Formats: sequence, structure tokens, C-alpha cells
Amino acid sequence: MSSTRVLVLNSGSSSVKYQLLDMRDRGRLAVGLVERIGEETSRLRHTPLHSGGETRESAGPVPDHEAALKAVSAELAKDGLGLDSPELAAIGHRVVHGGKRFTEPTVIDDTVLAEIERLIPVAPLHNPANLTGIRTAQALRPDLPQVAVFDTAFHTTMPESAARYAIDVRTADEHRIRRYGFHGTSHAYVSRATAELLGRAPEEVNVIVLHLGNGASASAVRGGKCVETSMGLTPLEGLVMGTRSGDLDPAVIFHLVRVGGMSMDEIDTLLNKRSGLTGLCGDNDMREIRRRVDEGDERARLAFDIYIHRLKKYIGAYYAVLGRVDAVVFTAGVGENAAPVREAAIADLETLGLAVDAELNAVRSDEARLISPADSRVAVAVVPTDEELEIATQTYALVGRDRGAGSERVGE
Ligand code: AMP
Repeated sequence: MSSTRVLVLNSGSSSVKYQLLDMRDRGRLAVGLVERIGEETSRLRHTPLHSGGETRESAGPVPDHEAALKAVSAELAKDGLGLDSPELAAIGHRVVHGGKRFTEPTVIDDTVLAEIERLIPVAPLHNPANLTGIRTAQALRPDLPQVAVFDTAFHTTMPESAARYAIDVRTADEHRIRRYGFHGTSHAYVSRATAELLGRAPEEVNVIVLHLGNGASASAVRGGKCVETSMGLTPLEGLVMGTRSGDLDPAVIFHLVRVGGMSMDEIDTLLNKRSGLTGLCGDNDMREIRRRVDEGDERARLAFDIYIHRLKKYIGAYYAVLGRVDAVVFTAGVGENAAPVREAAIADLETLGLAVDAELNAVRSDEARLISPADSRVAVAVVPTDEELEIATQTYALVGRDRGAGSERVGE
């Protein structure tokens, strides 16, 4: 029996999201989520797509990731898709931080695990959870190739001029301080899909990708390679996000310590959880913000304007970085759904060859599509992102290429 299935796992500190795909047609067989792991009120939601079955929900304590994965496997097994199936070719893990070292998806061995662990100081919230997910999956299927797909990998092609902060080089190197970027799987998928939409090879096109979800980041992609992105050492830098501030004068932090008497943890929480759209107007959901704007709410209007202003700055900056731009593309929850955001971000940029057709922009669709007028010099597009499909594709390609050959890494 040929092994053509890939399980994609996205392990957070208290949740596991998963998708099982069949790589023959890249179709989804099952999707689901275990939430509140470690609490009394854990919940599992499982949808067996291949059988057209109904979503099944179960509640009750799931003490740890091992119990969570066993519960997932039991759900999959009900439809003959369990983790022990010989048709499972590999497990692909989303790993947030791969530092400078991991420039490609990588088959996981002990050295790779140790390196992901070594990167915990630069990703204290994410890498430990990702490691737990990997170790648990390894324990359940020790014979199966497990692949790490890094959020940072796509950005490792950034030139040093974009990746370095202008601070003392020795201090930066000692603490591995540089701009790594995140959402790389999405930027890779969407930039390639945009080239496809334009009917051109990725090597031929220059694209500005705007990944606008609860977290948000922009990237400049030249000929399929990332040359600049808005997130930095952590996912805090760059655009205004749902709850994160994005760009900020670092002296704000000194001021909050010296004058405001705040602790580092308090400032961390302020900038990551109580800033962005939430900090500005109390809501982080763009649907709610638009509803309030339409009702004449001034705070929501200002939050929206600040969000758009920052976005425009990045579009202009990345236009200048790329020199020639073939497409500006919107993706993720806000980018795919919020027509007013797309309209406002592109407004008044005709001199850059950018325009949005109001009718095309108003269309709601799950398909990749152009929203610029037919005679536009630069295409404006909406391309739904699919990070799980990208992780599965990269995992399957690597396992197919390397079956039995062990790990592959590119050195620092
Ligand atoms: P993501 O992180 O990509 O899942 O995006 C989540 C965000 O997308 C939400 O917080 C909303 O702000 C936004 N969003 C989702 N659906 C819509 C919609 N129909 N209109 C506007 N914004 C939306």
C-alpha cells in the first residue's frame, strides 16, 4: 500500500490543531482541534471531511499533549484514518522559530530537536509547545518520518541589510538579535499562488504580500525569494495587529519603566496583548470595528485609520525595496474578507500603478482572484492562504525525496 497521507500538527501551549491530507489530490481527509489541554474543560472538535461526516465534539479533561494526540488518533481511527495507518507517510509539524539555521523543511532527528530547543530564548512562547508536540508524535509513531516546517524559513533569504538591526554588531550576534520574520509558510504559499494566478513563473514576478490576520505581516518577494518582511526578532514588529502594537520607538519602553514604573512583564503584556486594534478601540475583530465605523464611532475610526496608515507605509516601502512590483496581494482573515481594508490601503496609489476595482473588491469568494481593473499596471489580488497545505506539501516533498536518507539541514 502506498503511503500518501500527511498529518499536519500545529501544537500550541494548550492546544493542538491538526489536518490530515491525502497528497495524491491534496485533499483534506479530516481537520480538528484540541483546546484547553491541561484544564478540566478541554474540548476536541473533529470533522471527518473525507466521509462527509458531521463535526464531532467531545469535552472532558485532556491532561497533556500525549493524551491530546491519542484522542486525535482515536477520532481519526473511527474513520479508518488512525495514526497507526500504513498509509500515513509522515507528520509535518509547524515550528515557529528556526533561527538562521533552518532554511528549509527538515526531517527531525535528535540534533534538530536540540537546535529547536536552543532557540527557545528567542521564541519562549512557541518553540517549547512545538517541541512537546513533536516529542509526543515521535513517541506514538517512532518509525514515521517527522518533519519540521519553520515559520522563519522563507525569510532566511533576506539580505543582511534587511535582516540586521542597526545596533552594536557584537551584542547583536552574542544574543542572536536579528530580524527573522514569521508567517513564512503563508508568505511562501501566497507569493507562489499569486504568480500562478498571473500565469507566470514565481522566478519572474515581484510581489508584496500582506498577511493580515489577527497577527499581521508584510513581505517583499523578489522572484520567489523573500527580501524583506515586517516582523523581526519576534512577531511584535511591523504592522498594527489585533492585539500587538507593531513598530514602536524602543524608547517608549525605557519611558514606561522609568516614568511609568512598569515592569518588563507588564510592558510585554501591554505591547503583545493590550495594544494594536484592541488597545486603540477595545475591539480586535475587523468586522466589529467596521460596524462601529459605519455607526460613526470615533475611536473605531481612528483605530482603522492608524491600521491603514501603517499598511500604506509598508506598501510604499516595499515598493521602493523591490523597484518593480507585479502584484500586491492580500491574505488571511482580514486580507481575504475585509473589502474596506483593501480599498483604503490601495486608495490614492494610482501613481504607483495601483488601483482597486470596487465591484471586483466587493465579491466574496474562497478563490484566488484579481481585484484591480483590467488595465492596471500592477495587479492587486486576494489569495486565500493555506498554511496546512503548504506544510503538508513541503513535508511530503521532503519525505519523498529523502525516504530513508535521514535528515537534511543547511548550516548557519
Ligand atoms: P486569522 O488570524 O487569519 O484567522 O484572522 C482572524 C481575523 O480576521 C479576525 O480577528 C477578524 O479581524 C478578521 N476577519 C475574519 N473574518 C472577517 C470578515 N468577514 N470581515 C472582516 N474581518 C474578518
